[in-house]
Amino acid sequence: MPQQQHIHCTVNTCHYWASGNKCDASEIVVVSDAFAAATPDRVDATQAVNLDQTPTGNCMETCCKTFVRKGSGDERLDGIYKQS
Ligand code: SF4
Repeated sequence: MPQQQHIHCTVNTCHYWASGNKCDASEIVVVSDAFAAATPDRVDATQAVNLDQTPTGNCMETCCKTFVRKGSGDERLDGIYKQS
């Protein structure tokens, strides 16, 4: 049975954000802030299975690496797409 997951997100400046505070990305990856800052935008959920683990101590040290600023045109870099 396929896993049904609903990702809720309030970051409405993201290309993948959808009405009702939903994430409409085909997949996302959450990483440590340090990893996100040191890694290019093209590294994203499509490569998640091969990424090293990035332990953190609290939620303030994590981020959604799939974020793409709405209107930036950068959404084609990472292989993620909107589901609807
Ligand atoms: S890709 Fe990340 S930041 Fe963008 S809407 Fe989805 S969860 Fe939020």
